[in-house]
Amino acid sequence: MSQQGLPMWQCVQCGRTRFPPRELCPRCGTERGRLVRARYGDVVEYTHLGQPADAVLASIRTELGPIVIARLNYPDVHNGHEVELGTAQPGPHSPARYGYVPVPEQDEPA
Ligand SMILES: [Zn+2]
Repeated sequence: MSQQGLPMWQCVQCGRTRFPPRELCPRCGTERGRLVRARYGDVVEYTHLGQPADAVLASIRTELGPIVIARLNYPDVHNGHEVELGTAQPGPHSPARYGYVPVPEQDEPA
């Protein structure tokens, strides 16, 4: 990950958060918003890519509300899995893309 969190636009009037960032709020119409970053999310659904599976494409509900689609180069994932969000480093033949990495599972308190 080259940068932590995904950039999102949050309306300062009604609080609605949109992804990708917008210049107008679709709910209240104001132009007044601020850039925020969603750093975490939970896997909602996923599918394995490739044969054998070497990557996962998943929809992720971010901590700020919007659902994003991201690719994970790590096949061990499950619904509800908490992940850390970020943008992947662009390569010579690929543009920047959104990605995520799994967050280590915490032990339940005894
Ligand atoms: Zn608004």
